[in-house]
Amino acid sequence: MCGIVGYVGGRDASKVVLEGLKILEYRGYDSCGIATFDSELEVRKDRGMIDEVDSGQRFLEMKGTIGIGHTRWATHGPPSRENSHPHTDCTGEIAIVHNGIISNYLELRKSLADRGHTFTSETDSEVLAHLIEEQHADQGLEEAVISALESVEGSYAVLAVSSREPGRIICARHESPLLLGLGEGECFLGSDISAFLGYTKGLSLLMIWSMLWLIGAAGL
Ligand code: GLU
Repeated sequence: MCGIVGYVGGRDASKVVLEGLKILEYRGYDSCGIATFDSELEVRKDRGMIDEVDSGQRFLEMKGTIGIGHTRWATHGPPSRENSHPHTDCTGEIAIVHNGIISNYLELRKSLADRGHTFTSETDSEVLAHLIEEQHADQGLEEAVISALESVEGSYAVLAVSSREPGRIICARHESPLLLGLGEGECFLGSDISAFLGYTKGLSLLMIWSMLWLIGAAGL
């Protein structure tokens, strides 16, 4: 088990996401990381406990009001900085976090590599960033995520951001938990409600996704 947090709204995303990740520590993890978007996409991550990684990476220096974060429990690839999430595509425009296991990642990885993609990690998750990259070439991020997931087998809760569409997080889940909280001009995402429980007073809607497969766009 491991955790995912996302935030889009008017607050400092790195603060909200970091707080959420700390709350999700009880789920167990070996690495952590955050991506935020201000004028460009920034990713900071490493193996280790959150406080330890934070003392080197200084997550709160990350600017922006949109962010995604991850605590990793390694299933494919040992704990390392390279294997920590978020993962980016070849262009550096897309970042994703993923909980779960992409069971057909080896064949996806091989065909993506044959089409010229460069991988920087040993994880199953990184294929998602490159699949979305291909689809995002000529479609919006939401359509790109939907198309990319058509070729994926396994379990996932995934959040994706693109610097070409600032202000949006595209989220999808299949057999992995993900909750969405909608507030006034802000949205929270988390593997469980405790990740954003501190903000729930202001939330007008809390969606508990029980469907097997659901994709949604959290944006302003
Ligand atoms: N399978 C992915 C990995 O090994 C995600 C693990 C997780 O859910 O934390 O990076």
